[in-house]
Amino acid sequence: MVKPPTPAQETVDILLDSGLVVTMDADRRVLDPGGVAIRGNAIVAVGPAEEMRARYAAECVVDCRQQVVMPGIINTHTHLPMSILRGLADDLRLDVWLHGYILPVEREFVNPEFCFLGATLACAEMLRGGTTCFADMYYYEEEVAWAAAEAGMRGICGETVMKFPTPDALTYEESLQYVADFVGRWKGHELIVAAPAPHSLYMCTAEILQQTTALAREHDVPQLIHVSETADEVEAWLEQTNMRPTRWLEEMGVLDSKVTAAHCVHVNSEEIHILAERGTGVAHNPTSNLKLASGIAPVAEMLATGVAVGVGTDGAASNNDLNMFEEVRLAALLPKGVTRSPVVVPAQEAVAMATIYGARALHLDHLIGSLEPGKRADIITVSTERLHNLPHYETTGENVYSRLVYTAQASDVHHVLVNGKHMVDEGDLLVLNEAHVLEQARNLARRINKFFLAHEKSILDKLVSIGGLEQQEMFEVQGKGRLRDEEAFRAGLAHPVLRITRHTSRDQYDTYFVFADPGQGRLRYREDNVVGAEDRVYPIYSLTLTGPSKEAVYENSVVLSRSRFTAPADRSLRFYREYFSPERVIEVGKHRERYHIRYQGLDFAVNLDRPLGPPEGEAFVEIKSRTWSQQDALRKAGLIGELLAMFGISPEDVVREEYVDLFAGDEESR
Ligand SMILES: [Zn+2]
Repeated sequence: MVKPPTPAQETVDILLDSGLVVTMDADRRVLDPGGVAIRGNAIVAVGPAEEMRARYAAECVVDCRQQVVMPGIINTHTHLPMSILRGLADDLRLDVWLHGYILPVEREFVNPEFCFLGATLACAEMLRGGTTCFADMYYYEEEVAWAAAEAGMRGICGETVMKFPTPDALTYEESLQYVADFVGRWKGHELIVAAPAPHSLYMCTAEILQQTTALAREHDVPQLIHVSETADEVEAWLEQTNMRPTRWLEEMGVLDSKVTAAHCVHVNSEEIHILAERGTGVAHNPTSNLKLASGIAPVAEMLATGVAVGVGTDGAASNNDLNMFEEVRLAALLPKGVTRSPVVVPAQEAVAMATIYGARALHLDHLIGSLEPGKRADIITVSTERLHNLPHYETTGENVYSRLVYTAQASDVHHVLVNGKHMVDEGDLLVLNEAHVLEQARNLARRINKFFLAHEKSILDKLVSIGGLEQQEMFEVQGKGRLRDEEAFRAGLAHPVLRITRHTSRDQYDTYFVFADPGQGRLRYREDNVVGAEDRVYPIYSLTLTGPSKEAVYENSVVLSRSRFTAPADRSLRFYREYFSPERVIEVGKHRERYHIRYQGLDFAVNLDRPLGPPEGEAFVEIKSRTWSQQDALRKAGLIGELLAMFGISPEDVVREEYVDLFAGDEESR
């Protein structure tokens, strides 16, 4: 029954009655018991409960006894559609995780439906956990905007721009056009701010950043960017530009726009001052930074310097949830551990990071972040009468903040209002068809799982996934033998029937990855230290996947082998080891003298190889030639036989095994 208003009363839509109201306004007013009156999408008044009941007649009175009433939580950095990829691949290094797993799956599956579904799933999770506003960076960002708008959530939707092709754009010009249209279409929307999201310095160019900055300034919208997430990234940037990333952003004029910089794990004091002076918001993502071992952001120093630091979950693929209560707790705890000072980032400061500072970090503090008349009604209530949050003390005036930060759980969220609309009522989600969303997510995950398993099984697919490989199916005829008489070999080389066209000298270190299924072939990582002019050594790194079987064996044990893929290895051996996770790794080193010769009008490579490890003192001669047809192979096999004889290799010294099997014979036979 709605009580009719008395003549002295004003009518409002909703009255949040008799809660412990934590306003997060400039005075950090706390009202116990207090009330919040809401009309339309805005807060009309905040005051003592009794006074509010006397002044306002509400359409709907929400009983907030035994609950904290506070501003909705703001997730300042996330990638909502990645909720679909939650738990796909964990406990990996950032490069392996991203290039080895996330990017291949994204290339295969990210489309508008994926983004809409993932964002919807994320909205349901966020709302239940008390998050009312987010800042997102992903692809097909308009789908994220639609998902959030349909759910009724507030958000900054940042369309990713980078110099590489993305799932939704082949070029960055295409991305920029997408963003410009997107920003224009959503301008003035009640809940959604469409924005450019240049991925990061290393994924963009100066030109891209200039253009996104111009766009952000023209439309007065923020731009979202990852900054200084890892130490490697900062080091590389320093090397490239002689400037630290934040200083570079300032020099380039990027900070003239409203920027929200995600991570800022590796920023120094000078950069922190720049962030403070330029009003650049920072999104601190403690779980993601810990999980990917990126480090711990200097949050205490940033806050002390006056930087607007909010908290974010980052994507659910690196967190693995969107639980802001967990993030806020970490945001309060980590700086204490790092600075060894328990007084830094007290609970009240942590709540501020989740609310009003988060709003400042997103440049939305004129609208949200605190409970004040005129601001949007983004409000949550948190039940603090649960077992894990009892009993209560009121000793310092700070106890309520400590209950929120150190004990409250996302599941304690009781009511959620966004823009004056009731979204969660006594723990029930009033918007979105949760069962339907979950069913769709499960179905999509099944498909991704199937793709992932097939991909994981094929070394070739994995190799192709990380890019940079040229597919080449190269056939080679080769003959090899143990050399017992070096003089005979030298005499053979000097024989007038052949001509040496080139000679090189090098140390070769090969690392073979052997897999449980021999059908996968073997992957060889080779470090070739070629000795050049003036004895300078040039290292060359290459990666070769060799097929499992010899195609044919000719007379004199000359073999036709097939090398399936060769490519420059532009990543570290460590990366490949972690990415391919072979069952066994065998290392083989040898010194190689290579003679390119012409014999009977054809080209051959003659290698004089000496192992750098055991069997010490042995030498081998290997003769190779590329081949294209059966007939050509047959002819070359015959000629290699002749050459072996000419080099003094007797038939009983001919070997068919590869060096990896010869040198690591014991291990191999086990
Ligand atoms: Zn991120």
